[in-house]
Amino acid sequence: MDRIMTNRLDRGYKRYKEEFEEAALRVLRSGRYILGSEVESFEAAWAGYTGAAHCTGVASGLDALYLALRACDIKAGDEVILQGNTFFATALAVHMTGARCVFTEPDEYHQLDPAGIEAKINDRTKAVMVVHLYGQTARMTEIKEICKKHGLRLIEDCAQSHGSMSDDGCMSGHSGDFGCFSFYPSKNLGAFGDAGAVVTDDAELDRRLKQLRNYGSSRRYHYAEAGVNSRLDELQAALLSVRLSHLDELTKERKEAAAFYDTHIENPLIEKPEVRPGADHVYHQYVIRCDRREELIKHLDERGIDTIIHYPVPPHLTEALAYLGYKKGDLPFTEKLADSVLSIPMYNGITREEQERVAEALNGFGD
Ligand SMILES: *Cc1c(COP(=O)(O)O)cnc(C)c1O
Repeated sequence: MDRIMTNRLDRGYKRYKEEFEEAALRVLRSGRYILGSEVESFEAAWAGYTGAAHCTGVASGLDALYLALRACDIKAGDEVILQGNTFFATALAVHMTGARCVFTEPDEYHQLDPAGIEAKINDRTKAVMVVHLYGQTARMTEIKEICKKHGLRLIEDCAQSHGSMSDDGCMSGHSGDFGCFSFYPSKNLGAFGDAGAVVTDDAELDRRLKQLRNYGSSRRYHYAEAGVNSRLDELQAALLSVRLSHLDELTKERKEAAAFYDTHIENPLIEKPEVRPGADHVYHQYVIRCDRREELIKHLDERGIDTIIHYPVPPHLTEALAYLGYKKGDLPFTEKLADSVLSIPMYNGITREEQERVAEALNGFGD
């Protein structure tokens, strides 16, 4: 029996093979590979999809976050509030600006808990960064209110939440000042290499962003500020446009696969993911919790099922960010999650038979 892997990117390609290949050939034959019409049309389409007025394609999700912070003038001496349980890149983007990460605890749905934000605000606080972790939207109505009250920038890390709808009626990425996306191949909207984008309603912020991604220049060989080279390329943009044209059906398929797990996994030792009333979930990952995680991983592995932990070490306990001075026990709920979460196979193209095998193996754990 074939192993069931945590992702099968080959299936995502084969499904729209002809369309991807036609788009790739079109770019190769065009003679234009950087900042051309493919990037422009993808940017317009992605802005339209999220409801934002502007979109800027960049080279990765990390760059999207970093450049959004830069465009908000966040720098050394400033503080940015974010949840403790996120992918390292969210915190790394803050670090790269010279600003300080201030971590807070998530709620029981793994999302930034608005209740913890205000206690962390001081004169140095400049922004709140929200991550719609695993694809579930955070409490944006409340978070927006807090940011407005304290004059803070609001930046969304939507690397896992393409196409999910927040409780304020905005597509994820359209609630705050900036929505930052990664199109890393395994994301819900995946490219065939590194890619990212930033959306905003603010024309001036968008101008800054476009300048920053291109060395800090908006007029050739004239440099207004020290930017970076972080451009989305024509090939990735063309391939992303193909995938975007199918995103609604891909999201629907993920939700159906999650519903199957919801109804077929039944084991008192395993906690299934819950969706907060009013939130939306596009299941970038289907994340269960289990106190006997090591045993469970072994049990599944012996039955030919791969799993992955998102994420075993929270950013505040990494060596890289040790200088912030956090220690074990500072974020007890974040740390508890890091010790108990487990992502089971969830991707576009997973079959019912594969899901049945996964559910059966989970249900047999602990017997
Ligand atoms: C993937 C991811 C990123 C980084 O995106 P890259 O394109 O890999 O740089 C940032 N934040 C979160 C939550 C992610 O899942």
